[in-house]
Amino acid sequence: MPVNLQTPIDYLKGVGPNRASLLKSELGIHTYQDLINLFPNRYIDRTSYYKTNQLQQNSAEIQVIGVLKGFREVTQKRGKRLVADFIDDTGSMELVWFRGQKWIRESLKVGQTYVAFGRANLIGGKFSMPHPDLELKSEHEKNLRSAMQPIYPSTEKLSNKGITNRVISKIMQQLFLETKGQFSESLSPDLLKELKLISKSDALFNVHFPKSNEVLGKAQFRLKFEELFYIQLQLILKNLIHKSRIKGFTFDQVGNYFNSFYQEHLAFELTSAQKRVLKEIRSDLGSSAQMNRLLQGDVGSGKTIVAFMSMLIGLDNGFQCCLMAPTEILSVQHFNGLSELCNKLNISINILTGSSTTLQRKEIHKSLENGDLQILIGTHALLEDKVQFKNLGLAIIDEQHRFGVAQRSKLWRKGSKSELSEKSSINPPHILVMTATPIPRTLAMSLYGDLDISVIDELPAGRKPIKTVHRYDNNRLKVFRFIKDEITKGRQVYIVYPLIQESEKMDYKDLMDGYESISREFPMPDYQISIVHGKMKAVDKEYEMQRFVKGETQIMVATTVIEVGVNVPNASVMIIESSERFGLSQLHQLRGRVGRGAEQSYCILMTSHKLSNDSKTRLETMVKTNDGFEIAEVDLKLRGPGDIMGTQQSGVLNLRIADVVKDKTILERARYEAKRILKDDPTLALPQHANILNTYRQMGKFKNIWNYIS
Ligand code: ADP
Ligand code: MG
Repeated sequence: MPVNLQTPIDYLKGVGPNRASLLKSELGIHTYQDLINLFPNRYIDRTSYYKTNQLQQNSAEIQVIGVLKGFREVTQKRGKRLVADFIDDTGSMELVWFRGQKWIRESLKVGQTYVAFGRANLIGGKFSMPHPDLELKSEHEKNLRSAMQPIYPSTEKLSNKGITNRVISKIMQQLFLETKGQFSESLSPDLLKELKLISKSDALFNVHFPKSNEVLGKAQFRLKFEELFYIQLQLILKNLIHKSRIKGFTFDQVGNYFNSFYQEHLAFELTSAQKRVLKEIRSDLGSSAQMNRLLQGDVGSGKTIVAFMSMLIGLDNGFQCCLMAPTEILSVQHFNGLSELCNKLNISINILTGSSTTLQRKEIHKSLENGDLQILIGTHALLEDKVQFKNLGLAIIDEQHRFGVAQRSKLWRKGSKSELSEKSSINPPHILVMTATPIPRTLAMSLYGDLDISVIDELPAGRKPIKTVHRYDNNRLKVFRFIKDEITKGRQVYIVYPLIQESEKMDYKDLMDGYESISREFPMPDYQISIVHGKMKAVDKEYEMQRFVKGETQIMVATTVIEVGVNVPNASVMIIESSERFGLSQLHQLRGRVGRGAEQSYCILMTSHKLSNDSKTRLETMVKTNDGFEIAEVDLKLRGPGDIMGTQQSGVLNLRIADVVKDKTILERARYEAKRILKDDPTLALPQHANILNTYRQMGKFKNIWNYIS
């Protein structure tokens, strides 16, 4: 009988209760299955040995054969270190331990020959190896060595408690002994054949005990594919289940509101990308399934008008719509812009934010419930329980990356009571989420794989690309002169300061100092300056913003509160102070505040002379390109997927072996195959998909799928 991989790890020979509890707490290994899925970070050569006189500074991990001489304790600033001399026929080096010294003294045998493995450092003219991995030479010789010894993920606590890489390798060997290296296949025969994948058992064996680079590569490919395949399968299934289970409202007519707006009031020709996206949305809304769509479009690509026209379709079908934005400023701006359009069409629209008065709220609640109010704009305030719609048909979230997944699902429950169904179930509204933070395709596929994705990949005609330059602080006077020229031409200017939580106090000081010197350089009454920052009251922010929007002030000094979505087409210069402190996507967002009108726009990135390599890359990227997707790719490479906004919470990216950046092509293939299989066989009922169904079930992710899909 095959060994059950769900067996607790405690049962494995060589793993007692102590080790088991450490493996659980440090590496999340609870079962045989978890251990088998602990993949090496890298591999090192353990067939060659160094002499102590061959050591070099900054070398990779190496192994040295020598005799362990007596221990001595050396007192240092904090605590003690344990040192032992390690001697071979060419000289000696020191072995050093800072932690776990008691255990080291008890378990190592002075006078014996060991193989020491680790990284040697040159300190005070002598080589020393901190926390080496030590194995008796006699033991060492019993084991087969390969040129590719796996190095497993570890933690400081594990190595302190003596669970070294060698111990992990040992228990891994034990696991293969007990299971005879036989693991059930998790992919379908078709996939194995089609992609020329090696079997699961072969892959696992070769990833843990590789014989050559070639088989290792095959093993890794197979396991990466499998990992990404099941993530995609899960996301696509979720999407399918939504579509079949959740009945959406069918917006089957495009009526008066939409048509008269399109024919009489639309001030410009839509770009072909906007038209394509509107078509995609229209077809979603017209089908009987509930829409869950992500609209990606670079800053300034014109997402708002697409959102508005989608809402008009909702109104044409007798439904209410709402638009939620992450900040008050942005909500107000949407409200002002859309009110103008709504007035022309006799549509009722209102705004709800944290600063709405009790009276205003009452009024809004009432008109929402009796259906008088057609469009509601607002911040998170929309999510409050008191906000009840009569029949919400479409909910739009702007700048989605600023919200969590939880908020998206909260909007779901704002749908209307279905009058058709017997039970008083709630029908969720159609959902459109929009984001201007371009997410590389691969990341979008993992993060938002359960959504359908539309992309506006074209800017409205006639926009001049923004000219971006990098200037050092000592050129500030020249920059001021440039600003003056632009203002004389009638333009407006943003000057943005960083505001980072950790250094908030200093940052406010910088902002205020900056504001003062700008006020001196640009004195009243010739110049008017607005200032907006997070510590101001919402009404004051709004007042200052409006002065700038109306053109009463020429300069807007601000922290990043203006980052998101603000639209002042006459503003043509964006100065970003201490720009080395901003992330790439933030810089790109900020730059997107200009270049919205017909005039040539500029972005000036100010920095000090001290720049890290990453900062330099970010600045160079900004100067080189205006393309948000290109910038996002660089960002992903610099920071890794874990840091990109919103990804931490998703959990989708806790990958064991694959890497969404490096394994992009495997990811794309995995998504393609998952889609193809589910298209033909949405319940995975066909015999050739039995392996997939079993694996998926074991992952605990297959709950009554048959109830939903048929
Ligand atoms: P974003 O996608 O960043 O939200 P907005 O929707 O704020 O962009 O649009 C930016 C500006 O471009 C707005 O002033 C909007 O009126 C204008 N705009 C949108 N679509 C077009 C178009 N097809 N032609 C010309 N201007 C457009
Ligand atoms: Mg916008």
